[in-house]
Amino acid sequence: MEKNKQIVDALLAWYPEHARDLPWRKDRNPYHVWLSEIMLQQTRVEAVKEYYKRFLKELPTIEDLAVVEEDRLLKLWEGLGYYNRARNLKKAAMTVVDELDGQFPDTYEGILALAGIGDYTAGAIGSICFDLQTPAVDGNVLRVYTRLMEDASNIDKQSTKKQIREQLAEVYPKGHCGMLTQALMELGATVCVPNGAPKCDVCPLQELCMARQHDSWQQYPVRDEKKSRRIEEKTVLVLQCDNRIAVRKRPKKGLLSGMWEFPNVEGRLTEQQAADIATKWKAAPEHLKMNYSYTHIFSHVEWHMTAYYLTCRTMCEEFQWVTIDEMEADVAMPSAFRPFVQVLKESK
Ligand code: SF4
Repeated sequence: MEKNKQIVDALLAWYPEHARDLPWRKDRNPYHVWLSEIMLQQTRVEAVKEYYKRFLKELPTIEDLAVVEEDRLLKLWEGLGYYNRARNLKKAAMTVVDELDGQFPDTYEGILALAGIGDYTAGAIGSICFDLQTPAVDGNVLRVYTRLMEDASNIDKQSTKKQIREQLAEVYPKGHCGMLTQALMELGATVCVPNGAPKCDVCPLQELCMARQHDSWQQYPVRDEKKSRRIEEKTVLVLQCDNRIAVRKRPKKGLLSGMWEFPNVEGRLTEQQAADIATKWKAAPEHLKMNYSYTHIFSHVEWHMTAYYLTCRTMCEEFQWVTIDEMEADVAMPSAFRPFVQVLKESK
């Protein structure tokens, strides 16, 4: 407990001097903090900045988010991945607007009840926007904390997260809750970093850190062993008729549900087999312009994709046919297929 208090004091003294200037730190508007926290899950800060600005330019208020068309929403999210996060944002915005009179909830339980918001995000919004004593315990915080304490609990276990959250909550200082949450995040992102050696020499907690004392940082945090990813082969057909390209929507359920994609089939086909499929789709393929291979890595699966770029004579009904400009403006194409768009643009 005493040590936890010392940690808090050291972090609060350190943070104001070392905080990065980030667009979502300009105010405590819960919409802004919430949006940034959801975007930052699985995505680097640098990449999120532009998304964040563009999103708020188009949807400046929760009311705007509550009524946005799904296709437009997915387009704004294109490239960030985990598209259900965007759908849940809209769902939660609808709850705030329709059921809560437009007032964002200001209790931990109220925030947690919104779609797509878990313990971490509720803790972050609660502490940053409403000065609640609710720590936001994510991978960064778990790494810092287990190193400080040389705590060998498995951080993939919910019980470990809960325990650390409770220990931190006891020392969350009223009046500075938001600053402490952000200081912990900042330390994990910039000093006690996830990849490579921690920068202990510039760490404000170096005197308090057991891992630093024993040079044992490599042993923490303790995690489950990673399962290897399943590999799936796919053949992608980039069908081009005049200056239009065939796209289709993915099914409503499953990976990348509801996003747009180029037509594709399971397995690695030869050129001839790909042309035969295009014929079966009644696209009347003419000429193979090129092929291009790309591997996309999801958390549990890898797609090893080979794309054949075929010119065709018929815009068959099976697909939507769009120009590249239309694709860029309106078609939400996930990162798994974006490299094929890039090749298309470069070959124009
Ligand atoms: S002293 Fe080193 S290992 Fe300990 S919290 Fe700081 S950066 Fe991490």
